[in-house]
Amino acid sequence: MGKNRIMLFLFMPGLLFFLPIFGINSAHADLIWPPDEIPFGTKIPEETEFTGEPKSLEIDYLVLMNKLNPLPDNWASVVEFEHITNSRGNTAEVEKKAYEAYLALRNALAAEEVIIDIDSAYRSITDQMKIMEDFTIRYGEDYAKKFVAVPGYSEHHTGLALDLYLNVDGADIYDNEEMVKYPEIWAKIHEKLADFGFILRYPEGKEDITGFSYEPWHIRYIDNVEIAKKIAEQGLTFEEYLFNN
Ligand SMILES: [Zn+2]
Repeated sequence: MGKNRIMLFLFMPGLLFFLPIFGINSAHADLIWPPDEIPFGTKIPEETEFTGEPKSLEIDYLVLMNKLNPLPDNWASVVEFEHITNSRGNTAEVEKKAYEAYLALRNALAAEEVIIDIDSAYRSITDQMKIMEDFTIRYGEDYAKKFVAVPGYSEHHTGLALDLYLNVDGADIYDNEEMVKYPEIWAKIHEKLADFGFILRYPEGKEDITGFSYEPWHIRYIDNVEIAKKIAEQGLTFEEYLFNN
């Protein structure tokens, strides 16, 4: 049992306790779970530099990352990245296998005239620290803590999480507030994710479990079509799947 799984089990009893109280009943929306402050596991993992050397160790595609589960040590020295440039000329790094699966997903969607691209993928812990600092200066500490993942705890550190954007009638749609105006397009995208080993990581109505608001654009590669299908068909979060299996 890896460290992540152990932390998951530490996390879940608390979750099960809270679920009957306000996890299902959104009338208690003033109670927020998980809490803003991380009650344990506050260690920021050490980041190892990518050396360009071939990687020999295998990564755990089912790694759980959330507000209580930090990036496993040495992750960045193990994962292999694909360097990409999107339609807007921005560069990003995506874990190799996740990128291959993404290309297959994109092609399948293009056949239905749904055009997607990658807005954001891998972020280093240093990148996340900069984002946190930037938000703290601009909007204050409370706001930054609420909307920015704590460095070391963002799923984007894995290279397996992708933020997508849309191209609708020839125009790129990448602002979050604009993107949510296309629920029918997101539905088509979400329907196809599992076929390529992706899951919707922060589904609507599951904020109390994931700790994140609904993000139709944030998808996560898990390298397992069967598990992805189970998660999609049963309307589970990744946390719920891992706890019950
Ligand atoms: Zn994201």
